[in-house]
Amino acid sequence: MKLQTIIIGAGVSGLLLADELSKSGVDSFILEKSRGVGGRMATKRIQDFSFDQGAPFFTARDPRFVEKVNDWKRQEVVEAWNFSSLDCWRGSPTMNAVAKYLAQGKTVRRECKVSTISQNQEGWVLKTDEGEFIECGRLLITVPIPQALVLLKSERALLNSEVLERLEEVQYEPCLAGCFLLRGGSEIPETGVVEKDDFFSWISDQTAQEGKDRLHSKIVVHAPGDWSLKNYAMPEEELLAIFENRLKPWIGNGMILEKRLHRWKFARVINPYSELFYLNREGTLGMAGDGFGGAKVEGAALSGMALARAIVENRE
Ligand SMILES: Cc1cc2nc3c(=O)[nH]c(=O)nc-3n(C[C@H](O)[C@H](O)[C@H](O)COP(=O)(O)OP(=O)(O)OC[C@H]3O[C@@H](n4cnc5c(N)ncnc54)[C@H](O)[C@@H]3O)c2cc1C
Repeated sequence: MKLQTIIIGAGVSGLLLADELSKSGVDSFILEKSRGVGGRMATKRIQDFSFDQGAPFFTARDPRFVEKVNDWKRQEVVEAWNFSSLDCWRGSPTMNAVAKYLAQGKTVRRECKVSTISQNQEGWVLKTDEGEFIECGRLLITVPIPQALVLLKSERALLNSEVLERLEEVQYEPCLAGCFLLRGGSEIPETGVVEKDDFFSWISDQTAQEGKDRLHSKIVVHAPGDWSLKNYAMPEEELLAIFENRLKPWIGNGMILEKRLHRWKFARVINPYSELFYLNREGTLGMAGDGFGGAKVEGAALSGMALARAIVENRE
């Protein structure tokens, strides 16, 4: 029997899951709560400038993921970024280029937030924030695990109690991120990255390679996970003031034109689930994402691809 497949989430795991399924002849439909695709591989616009405010780069080790990255390189949606001894990649021109490329030819319904999931005799019933009901036979969830468990609230009993217990144990750390648009150049090295700073876990300037005489600088900072957790609820203005103060040595003569804060509640998974994905015995409920594959773009990608393989094998 052909099941209508819905994927919740258009991050890298959901998009690769849809991509791999479609290559095996399984159509799917993605529901995404945001206006854009990419999830935590996010690019934000401030005035006419784009800032990668989520994952700034990624690495590729597993041959299956390396193959994907090589394809993205051929399509010119990623480029090597040699700021460290690791082989690092970033989206080109911005991080969300990868997701935009993967979303081509897929059905992605944006600004559609799923608020509850329930079951009827035919399968799953998703209720959206707008009050719409969407039905499907196979449901694949690629949002961070704690958010998936909230969605599945009334249906948790369908999960085996041991699986549920293991899912409930999975924890993420938050990240408070700041974007600063400067007039003039910054003091950030030409690589675009400050690798050692006594406060931030990440500082980058996506315009650093353009030299000191450039007209603008685009600085992104990430506070460390433990600090972000402790100060997560602090008012935005206070957080931005702290960031600005800590950033002073790297701003130089640049003048801050605009600053924005983003609170990533589930930035990185700390203790992923012990398997690459979850799929129930009937093949009608699946979960993937970095909560399964590990705290990186690569982990999320491998998880989405592995779930797709399992569904295809389950069908055969
Ligand atoms: C600040 C930060 C720094 C990072 N640094 C790095 C790094 O240097 N290197 C690295 O490899 N990784 C890094 N990561 C981690 C990496 O970004 C993630 O592991 C990866 O992008 C997760 O992909 P995903 O598909 O599992 O989840 P997501 O990207 O979170 O995708 C889930 C999608 O589901 C959508 N969604 C959620 N709830 C709903 C709902 N109810 N209805 C509809 N849609 C919904 C979301 O909007 C999102 O688009 C970083 C992440 C952050 C936040």
